[in-house]
Amino acid sequence: MTPGLMQTTPLMISGILNYAARAHAGREIVSRLIDEPLWRYDYAGLARRAAQAAHALRRLGVASGDRVSSLAWNTHRHLELFYAVPGIGAVLHTANPRLFDEQIVYTINHAESRVLFYERNFAALVERIAPHLTTVKTFVMLSDAERTIPGAVGAIGYETLIAGEPEAIDWPVFDENAGAFLCYTSGTTGDPKGVLYSHRAVVLHAMAGGLNSAFGFTAFDVVLPCSSLYHATAWGLPFTAPMCGAKIVLPADRMDGASLHALIQGEGVTFTGGVPTIWTMYLDWLDKTGQRPDSLKRVVIGGSAVPRAMAETFKRRYGVQTLQIWGMTETCPIGVVATPTPALAALGEEAMDEAIWTRQGRLQFGIELRVETEDGQEAPWDGETSGALLVRGPWVVRRYFRKEADAARPDGWFDTGDIATLDANGFMRITDRQKDVIKSGGEWISSIDLENVAVGCPGVKIAAVVGVPHPKWEERPLLVIEVHEGSAVGKDEVLAYLAPRIVKWWTPDDVVFAAVPLTATGKIDKKVLREAWRSHLMG
Ligand code: ADP
Repeated sequence: MTPGLMQTTPLMISGILNYAARAHAGREIVSRLIDEPLWRYDYAGLARRAAQAAHALRRLGVASGDRVSSLAWNTHRHLELFYAVPGIGAVLHTANPRLFDEQIVYTINHAESRVLFYERNFAALVERIAPHLTTVKTFVMLSDAERTIPGAVGAIGYETLIAGEPEAIDWPVFDENAGAFLCYTSGTTGDPKGVLYSHRAVVLHAMAGGLNSAFGFTAFDVVLPCSSLYHATAWGLPFTAPMCGAKIVLPADRMDGASLHALIQGEGVTFTGGVPTIWTMYLDWLDKTGQRPDSLKRVVIGGSAVPRAMAETFKRRYGVQTLQIWGMTETCPIGVVATPTPALAALGEEAMDEAIWTRQGRLQFGIELRVETEDGQEAPWDGETSGALLVRGPWVVRRYFRKEADAARPDGWFDTGDIATLDANGFMRITDRQKDVIKSGGEWISSIDLENVAVGCPGVKIAAVVGVPHPKWEERPLLVIEVHEGSAVGKDEVLAYLAPRIVKWWTPDDVVFAAVPLTATGKIDKKVLREAWRSHLMG
């Protein structure tokens, strides 16, 4: 080998902020807050306040390698912590406020955080959990001075904390493999597991997100992340947007149709992203009010399968392109993104849409994919043979935080727990999660495929399919439906809708109407459903 002779500048998250403050200083950042007026500043302002927060953290005794937790929404203050905490070499653990109290306590204690930053409307939550937090020394309320609740735990307000600190800082440069963010999986099975993102992983992932094969931002884009900052760093949008000079609009916790629409229209949002449940609500709201999202061009949707009907409505009714992504906390999270290619375009628009809307996305540079059949062989890339989906790459987990054993196999592949197919164009399709697959008489039925069809039936808001025990077939599919308000759709209509669209033996053994429970990350909680309906088909 002849050693390369180029500089080995480490990839630092602070480098993104330095860049944006130079190259896009005046590009705006707008943030909703719980009950304060809309906040407006720019990348230069973000750099100044992140520097102040960094100085304040050091004053609190936070040193390189320490962990700091946040319980916070998508706001500019949380964004400042996204740069301040890793900027000084500490690790930001973005706790998920939608977990149960015990799980939140578990993650903060497991992270051994020294400081907890929390949103004012979590004051009651923090009061409940504070006695159980074993390592937190300082509590800071993300609030201005006037609204900081006297007597609340800690009761230092963020604005008071950073006021008076210098607005400039020389961000330290250190090993790019140092930890930056600690994100826990939602723990639907067992305790939540910590995934510790490195600076290198975050920077490379953000660059990949900016590519045209993924989100493809330009400096003209206005980005509204509706994916939570606490869930896999909002898909890296807080880093990809400044790298590209895009304006950022932050919605706080207000994801209802009217609030989102006000921001989209008011700020000229061109790009937004979030889990399907948010877009179900938003499309519903648009339909009811007859409003249109004028500036919106693209919406990235992932976290669970995107119903075909959702992508179709966005495009045909509102001219908005849907980019489905598949990913997980363990992959930072971008794995695949569904963007067009010339090969698909050559098939004509309808065929291209069909191909894109029915797949999770295509292979991206930086992530390797492999589908393995039960005998451990690589499945052909034929779009048909399904098996365990494995991933490998510089932003894929190697080992969980404070665990002995590696999460990835010795050959680097990480088993995602999903079942998928890959096709000759590099498109991946998830057919199920390993634990959700329905085994009927030894044959597999894809719960996701069934849900995607069922949700297209008029009147259906959420369709969930689970395998429940059956006396003859081991398991059979049960379809649980939550209807749109005022809809009178019944079992017969749903079955009639499914009949021409699915193979006969996939027909659900029953259709029941009930509220569909969601997990802390907005996915259908199939564990709860399976438990609730386990005896339903046993007679
Ligand atoms: P949690 O902590 O809720 O498990 P993750 O975001 O890590 O949150 O969940 C990752 C899982 O979500 C994936 O393994 C996959 O099963 C599912 N998922 C993510 N995106 C999609 C998608 N576009 N289609 C189908 N399933 C998806």
